[in-house]
Amino acid sequence: GLSRTIRIPDETATEQFGALLAQSARQLEFGVLIYLHGDLGMGKTTLARGLVQGLGHPGNVKSPTYTLVEPYDLLEPPVYHFDLYRLADPEELEFMGIRDYLNQQAISLVEWPERGAGLLPGADVAIELTPARPGRMLSVTSGTQTGQALVAALSE
Ligand code: ADP
Ligand code: MG
Repeated sequence: GLSRTIRIPDETATEQFGALLAQSARQLEFGVLIYLHGDLGMGKTTLARGLVQGLGHPGNVKSPTYTLVEPYDLLEPPVYHFDLYRLADPEELEFMGIRDYLNQQAISLVEWPERGAGLLPGADVAIELTPARPGRMLSVTSGTQTGQALVAALSE
């Protein structure tokens, strides 16, 4: 896949990257599935907040740790923010109707996608956040043609 690695020095830069990702994704004709990898506290939810607020959501954005998914249906495109940290069994994803979410022309963000292994389709784009001084390193890698278009659009 196509890959980019950048340093994001602070929280604001993480939010700005999320907003940039939103602007690139809304140019696509397809829905996009984005995995967010990284340890607790690396900035996955911060990135999701930047993306959701960058599309115009005025309120808070918190990790849906207990509900598994937080829908932002009114955005264009809609955003589904998943946090699978507390997922006990990947089959729960079937019960919640994961396919119906992912079949839409929406941006789906997934924190802790490893927990859904076997039932979650492969990502269009995988983002990994790792510690750096200062801030974080962020790697973005495409897994599909759609993801490749998205990663390419990031640097336009
Ligand atoms: P996660 O969802 O990965 O567990 P959160 O986004 O909830 O992480 O929290 C990340 C923490 O790291 C917050 O305290 C946030 O202010 C901080 N943070 C986010 N991005 C950066 C960055 N690029 N550099 C330094 N700190 C950051
Ligand atoms: Mg989180």
